[in-house]
Amino acid sequence: MAKVTEEQVRDALSEVTAPGGNGNLAVLELVSGVVVRDGNVGFTIEVTSKQAQTFEPVRKAAEEAVAALPGVISVTAVLTAERPRQQQRPQQEHGQGPAQGQPQTSLKELVPNVGAIVAVASGKGGVGKSTIAINLALALLSKGLKVGLLDADIYGPSIPKMLGVHGRPDSEDGNILEPKENYGLKCMSIGFLVAEDTPMIWRGPMVMSAIEQLLRDVNWGELDILVVDLPPGTGDAQLTIAQRVPLTGALIVSTPQDIALLDARKSLNMFRKVEVPVLGIIENMSYFACPHCGERTDIFSHGGAKATAAEMGADFLGEIPLDMDIREAGDAGKPITAADSDSPHSKAFLAIADEVWEKARVLSEGTEARAPKIIVQ
Ligand code: ADP
Repeated sequence: MAKVTEEQVRDALSEVTAPGGNGNLAVLELVSGVVVRDGNVGFTIEVTSKQAQTFEPVRKAAEEAVAALPGVISVTAVLTAERPRQQQRPQQEHGQGPAQGQPQTSLKELVPNVGAIVAVASGKGGVGKSTIAINLALALLSKGLKVGLLDADIYGPSIPKMLGVHGRPDSEDGNILEPKENYGLKCMSIGFLVAEDTPMIWRGPMVMSAIEQLLRDVNWGELDILVVDLPPGTGDAQLTIAQRVPLTGALIVSTPQDIALLDARKSLNMFRKVEVPVLGIIENMSYFACPHCGERTDIFSHGGAKATAAEMGADFLGEIPLDMDIREAGDAGKPITAADSDSPHSKAFLAIADEVWEKARVLSEGTEARAPKIIVQ
């Protein structure tokens, strides 16, 4: 099959019209970035927050026009809602202007009924960040809190599978999405916005558009705490999220060995740079307890995260062992905290949840006053 080109995508978008100026204008004029990879197409349409609601049909029409091109496998168009300049928050620090292309909407206004927003981050992939995020969210829920889980891991959105939810989210009015729910935990995933096997290059602004939609266009209801599963690493996408989403705080997940801890340090420094409080470090796959003989083995060494936390002046929140039950429960869509609330692992997650909630509750009272800090790299 012929491969679709960026030029063809742009041509198709120049045929779609949108209200603007004194009449209609080509959607192409509002498109800020087109990514084409192996038939998978992504682009953003920049509108003002006032236009955002009325532009949904335009966004759909643009997607449909591109989808009709031969060789297109998937299309993701996202609206960026930029606030008019006079409503933007002032830059507080160093007199630096906003980084180019960064709209300054206060995202907290998109979720006025959400108390605290806590990110779960890791310096690299595969350390169990999503496993920690989901079990932490369930442990917070078991404390009687109203909890949501936002899966923002663009590189591998695994939360729906781990929570045992399937299919696309429902929407009564075609605009606001209903979060998926299991075990009483409300969940929304960036994976619902893109086809599962869609390889995409996500740049910061694109990630933010998608995350804005997942905050604004989802019926989260009233939440005490929203846990956000971040993409691993410290690149452009992660930095943009860290500086734009009004995070109450961040948790860093690491395995105990040196190489993983190097990345954990980078992650910690990234949050510090944008003045997001780091609530603490969690050591995952901390040790292995043999289910047959009970002997404990420190597969990836042990205690590295605790030592790093102490060295960097961060709190150490606890350790979770490498355990077959944790892996199997996650793969089966029944995380350990929901599957067996009496297990020692669930108790470890509950202890971490206690500490996280205690810190988040206090900090969230001050989050609204904290303007996001933009840094120029
Ligand atoms: P990440 O989000 O950091 O990429 P995941 O949470 O997706 O990592 O975990 C990667 C794999 O490791 C999954 O199969 C998961 O079930 C497994 N895993 C994570 N933590 C543990 C643990 N403590 N014990 C056993 N398996 C684990």
